[in-house]
Amino acid sequence: MSSPRIGVLALQGDVREHLRALSAAGAVAVPVRRAAELESVDGLVLPGGESTTIVKLARTFDLLESLRARIKDGMPTYGSCAGMILLADRIDAGGSPLEETFGGIDISVRRNAFGRQVDSFEADVAVDGIDGEPVHAVFIRAPWVEEVGPGATPLGRVTTGDAAGRIVAVRQQHLLATSFHPELTGDGRIHGYFVDMVKGARST
Ligand code: GLN
Repeated sequence: MSSPRIGVLALQGDVREHLRALSAAGAVAVPVRRAAELESVDGLVLPGGESTTIVKLARTFDLLESLRARIKDGMPTYGSCAGMILLADRIDAGGSPLEETFGGIDISVRRNAFGRQVDSFEADVAVDGIDGEPVHAVFIRAPWVEEVGPGATPLGRVTTGDAAGRIVAVRQQHLLATSFHPELTGDGRIHGYFVDMVKGARST
């Protein structure tokens, strides 16, 4: 089978790092800014950045409706950090509310959950489906998953430090989300997991 073609939503955020990690995991990785580019991909990564800005730009670029439609339609999509917020069905009232998200995962998330003072930190995360050592994860003004509804499955929890036990990775069928940034650490396992999800979706 040919390599899957996976887009990275390239409106704002750390696009280049995801493109690199996806290529390393065996995908043909392309930036996505237009509806035609979105139509051409088998799967999509929503990168970290600022979720409010990404939603605003998606509307400006006339991508919001097509993004929602493809996500609803079964396109494998992986959201990291701000991308997790965009895929969440509910945003906790504790953070400043987002007007609209893309939605799709039956979770509520809390934005900037680890505290605004703690801009970034690192911790180990045990992730179901990722063999070997726990994932050493980088969190940057990250959300956590406050509540998981019956549609979604918790995949990963922090195992070290003050945040131990917090859910920071979830899956719902073709949708995957992590609070952390695997594109920054050189550990390709999360991107590999997502590339496998995209391959699986193509073969069904
Ligand atoms: N705090 C950002 C938000 O709420 C997310 C930060 C990130 O993606 N690194 O959108």
